[in-house]
Amino acid sequence: MIDFEKYSDERICVTVPVTLPGGNNDVKVFMKRTDLVHPVISGNKWYKMKYNIVEMQKQGFDTLLTFGGAYSNHIHAAAHAGKLFGFKTIGLIRGEEHLPLNATLQSAVNNGMKLHYVDRTTFRKRETNEFLNSVKGKFGDVYILPVGGTNTVALKGCAEIIDQIDIDYDYICSASGSGGTFAGLVAGLQGDKKAIAFPALKGGKFLEKVIYGLVFDYTGKSFNNWELNTDYHFGGFAKLSRELIEFTHEFNKLNNFELDYIYTNKMMLGIADLIRKGFFKSGETIIAIHSGGLQGNIGMKEKVQKILGRKDQ
Ligand SMILES: *Cc1c(COP(=O)(O)O)cnc(C)c1O
Repeated sequence: MIDFEKYSDERICVTVPVTLPGGNNDVKVFMKRTDLVHPVISGNKWYKMKYNIVEMQKQGFDTLLTFGGAYSNHIHAAAHAGKLFGFKTIGLIRGEEHLPLNATLQSAVNNGMKLHYVDRTTFRKRETNEFLNSVKGKFGDVYILPVGGTNTVALKGCAEIIDQIDIDYDYICSASGSGGTFAGLVAGLQGDKKAIAFPALKGGKFLEKVIYGLVFDYTGKSFNNWELNTDYHFGGFAKLSRELIEFTHEFNKLNNFELDYIYTNKMMLGIADLIRKGFFKSGETIIAIHSGGLQGNIGMKEKVQKILGRKDQ
């Protein structure tokens, strides 16, 4: 088995107090900085991938095939993991090829990932047997890691994040996309404390079933100490508003580190808003997971500038 400690000392992921724009109202807010875990395989993607690599090697595969959008943090991380740990990687990318490649995909190619483009309709069918059989037919014997790196195996690493938090708290909060990270956190909590997921996409309610299923598959149990808050998607995945951007920049300035523009900023704004509304009470302690994603900020820069440049908002 890979000695992961040789590649990252996970104790570097400190839990630090943060100041929210608008103030904390005596609610104690911390971030668990999993973005620090590795310079490229950042944040939750490290924790989700770890035991998948172990599983892949145990099953005797030398190639990992996975999926993602053109700016995917997971694709970026998986390619680098392949280079670092010595396995081949294939990325099935949603949509058409655009040249020159953006920074995310260029980095993936530089790390040896072979990219194939899948039209959006087919991409939506990626979990069907028909599609998976066609993948096996085309690429041979490969270890298939679903979108976002989320499967039952991924929960093991994410559950370990809970063990690494060394202060007492009332709530764990995490941004959510495919649900794997949050499901791992819930598994790690084993019914203790409370947990809230903030989906970064519109219509995130479906994640309730997904998370429930993942937690049950992994632990054989179901817990009721968690909930979704679907109010802070800001119009959908990778959508931004002036309010959200200004919040993000102010947060970065106050705390001397950055949030990403897709996931963690929406969660932190949600937390700030819920404090204002009295959902979180004075004296309570919240740990929000900084799940990384900073490589994606390069791809969001143009959108950010465009929104800030608009005068009519
Ligand atoms: C991928 C990602 C998430 C979403 O994690 P899921 O396990 O897919 O829910 C959250 N935050 C960041 C920064 C990510 O890159």
